[in-house]
Amino acid sequence: MSATQRQASKTERELADAQLRVEELRDQLNYHSYRYYVLDDPEVSDAEYDELTRELASLEERFPELVTPDSPTQRVGISPADLFAPVEHRARMLSLDNAFSHGELEAWAARVERAVGTGARYSCEAKIDGVAVALTYEKGLLTKGATRGDGRIGEDITANVRTVRSVPQRLRVKDPPEYLEVRGEIYLSVKGFERLNEQLLDAEQRPFANPRNAAAGSLRQKDPKVSASRPLALWVHSFGFAAGIRFDSHSGFLTWCRDAALPVAPTSEVVDDLDGVIAYLDHWEKNRHSVDWEIDGVVVKVDQIPLQEELGATSHAPRWAIAYKFPPEERTTVLRSIDVHTGRTGIVTPFANLEPVHVSGVTITTATLHNEDEVARKDVRVGDHVIVRRAGDVIPEVVGPVLSKRKRGARRWKFPERCPSCGTELVRRPGEAYRRCPNKRGCPSQNIEWLFAFASRGAMDIEGLGYKTGIQLLDRGLIKDPGDIFSLSPDDLAQLEGFADKSITNLLAAIEKAKKQPLWRLLVALNIPHVGTHVAQVLARAFGSIEGLSEASAEQIDDVPEIGFEIARSVHEWFQDPENNALLEKLRVAGVRMADERPKRSGRGRLEGKTLVLTGGLERLSRDEATAAAQAAGARVASSVSKKTDFVVAGGNAGSKLAKAEELGVEVIDEDEFMSRLGPA
Ligand code: NAD
Repeated sequence: MSATQRQASKTERELADAQLRVEELRDQLNYHSYRYYVLDDPEVSDAEYDELTRELASLEERFPELVTPDSPTQRVGISPADLFAPVEHRARMLSLDNAFSHGELEAWAARVERAVGTGARYSCEAKIDGVAVALTYEKGLLTKGATRGDGRIGEDITANVRTVRSVPQRLRVKDPPEYLEVRGEIYLSVKGFERLNEQLLDAEQRPFANPRNAAAGSLRQKDPKVSASRPLALWVHSFGFAAGIRFDSHSGFLTWCRDAALPVAPTSEVVDDLDGVIAYLDHWEKNRHSVDWEIDGVVVKVDQIPLQEELGATSHAPRWAIAYKFPPEERTTVLRSIDVHTGRTGIVTPFANLEPVHVSGVTITTATLHNEDEVARKDVRVGDHVIVRRAGDVIPEVVGPVLSKRKRGARRWKFPERCPSCGTELVRRPGEAYRRCPNKRGCPSQNIEWLFAFASRGAMDIEGLGYKTGIQLLDRGLIKDPGDIFSLSPDDLAQLEGFADKSITNLLAAIEKAKKQPLWRLLVALNIPHVGTHVAQVLARAFGSIEGLSEASAEQIDDVPEIGFEIARSVHEWFQDPENNALLEKLRVAGVRMADERPKRSGRGRLEGKTLVLTGGLERLSRDEATAAAQAAGARVASSVSKKTDFVVAGGNAGSKLAKAEELGVEVIDEDEFMSRLGPA
């Protein structure tokens, strides 16, 4: 066989292999699209779906002869189900091309520049993870609501969209256009989604996997009353078709929509060049959880409409827009086993051991299953394919099983009867969702977890006292509980592995420094059930000392604003326990500060009666310190901006709270002004 013949047969073989793979990929993508668009019950994460699509697209690019008009890369969505009447869109409702890296975004911008020159401005927007809808207004009145369907024919969901509160029935304009079709996303807020899932679980129905599926499932209901009962909302983001009105720019269109009472997300921004685009997407990639709705990327659009028209569209997407997708937060993987772990308060938490999977830029091998009731509700079983989620700084969690992939004979998981660390029989109190190990001071796992939490940055902040050192201290009997830390001598520390003169001096200095921590930090460190940072700060402000708090009755603690009876009882009970009092005594003898110095101020604090909100990163103070300083000056520090907020302190990278303050006309001040309002330290 000649070299040319060999080459030809190799190419033929490659083509045949590619054809097989292309067919396989198309089958899989069609199947997943059906589950996603029609059943609202996907089996794989969006990222996995996107990866299959990219593989198909790159094969079609290498072997153009394999492209067919009905390939999932060439079409939009899927033909609508026959649950609703069909609606023909007057202008096709397209999808968006994707960019998964800065490089791909730059390549898109270069294509735009080649086609229309250098004058393009970019409208940057959050990519809202909801359901695409088209809303038609005739002479200002809402006459039709439709889904995207296959981009040409959608489903008539007019009755359902009418139930969405933020969809205006009438546009708020003096001279409404003859005909206007706008496009947007119907979505569920994250809180709304969580509430809905709780309700579904209470009614013993299957919960939704994520807010997008919940929004789609809630909107595409035969009975509009069901849609009405769900907290759906709308963000308008695109222009569809119009008669009697013209817009010069996309941003101009969005402003017009806002004025006409059509809700537009407050996140959009026009920038002049690619640097501006990159800064925008970096900001939203970091701050995607600062808004209460899901963002799965950023959409970048050429702002000038004449340039959009010049650029046109492919069969699938406009050339003047691109969706930059963030790294995925959800993946599917296989659940290898379920283990339990005893934490510092004795609560035993189940967690999943997973086949390693890459989510949000890190490889995950374990994920929390929260508590016994959650495992039972989700009914995840060993061997299941499960959806795993890691959102922002939140601990990775198992969202639920992919039931359609469950193997026969998979058994329900049973919670162990005994503590995995000390073997004590676990107890479950009435009304609690978890089991607990009652062996308070004798359980090795509780001891090390408590020690670690005691020394952590959010409590006594003892640098250099982590798990490794803590385990050695406990195992060698140098300490029995955190109360003994303050009596450690240089000789004690010299026995520990990895400790030399310098590390001994440093750790002892850190321990010495911790003795002067404010009261709220000590309260967090004491391991009182239900007392976290916020509750500890409230209690410290109200009682000022360990003595004051220990002498208070449960009712007196309950009288403190923001403290409920459950917490009050828990705090009161904690102080009745002789073991806890012995611990406090040890701390007192060691010289740990047990009371806050009351600010020496005559009469009222400088910020008495003011409500403020902190947002963004401050340079001189941590968030905790800024909160404590504001509270010491008599202010209330709220977590969200409302009309009642007196002012917002905005640091670097401030996000939605700043936007909200501007929207409501609330005063915004910077760190310097905040320091001066606090007055001399
Ligand atoms: P897409 O979600 O990647 O982007 C296009 C859509 O984004 C538009 O139609 C619009 O509705 C929406 N959008 C949100 N914010 C927008 C904004 N500010 N401006 C303009 N549009 C905005 O593409 P698609 O065609 O809607 O759906 C395909 C995607 O759906 C896939 O990439 C995949 O992530 C997901 N999917 C998942 C499965 C699965 O099984 N998990 C199956 C099918 C599709």
